[in-house]
Amino acid sequence: MNFEKYIRDINDFPKKGIVFKDITPLLGDAKAFEACADHLSSLVHTPIDKVVAIESRGFFFGGIIAQKLNAGFVPVRKKGKLPYDVLEVTYELEYGKDVLQIHKDAIQKGEKVVIHDDILATGGTAKAVCELVESLGGEIIQCNFIAILEFLKGREKIEYPIKSLLSY
Ligand code: AMP
Repeated sequence: MNFEKYIRDINDFPKKGIVFKDITPLLGDAKAFEACADHLSSLVHTPIDKVVAIESRGFFFGGIIAQKLNAGFVPVRKKGKLPYDVLEVTYELEYGKDVLQIHKDAIQKGEKVVIHDDILATGGTAKAVCELVESLGGEIIQCNFIAILEFLKGREKIEYPIKSLLSY
């Protein structure tokens, strides 16, 4: 399936100079949504214990990938959203700075983890999530995305295998 046609460019969102990759057309088409979930899961070739997905657009497919791979689902959320004891990391965005948190008991030492988000841009977010997983003792098998914005060189920040359906 040509997933590219279900992802539209929105110029100057959320601020001037950013070309935002809007995946809502992909989410809104039943066949494309299902095919995308299948493809994202098929990028993982070894058994895993957890899929860690990043708020909020990582959540759309993160849970489905986890189910397809017979793994648990772990949400990484913006500061203040998770109710139990958390570990946190501050990171740089393509547009700003933010804090992400994970529950301290979300991953056991040695568990095999796939990290999923919609887009890899500068890599700051995914790198921060890698640090959270590493701190909990998880073994990162792969970072998994719908699309990579190669020109922002996010790959250079990530020391784990990176897989995606599309690259721009
Ligand atoms: P980064 O930390 O720069 O790799 O940014 C990745 C995060 O920001 C992901 O959670 C994306 O959802 C979001 N993001 C960054 N840039 C874009 C973009 N151009 N289009 C859509 N989402 C983006």
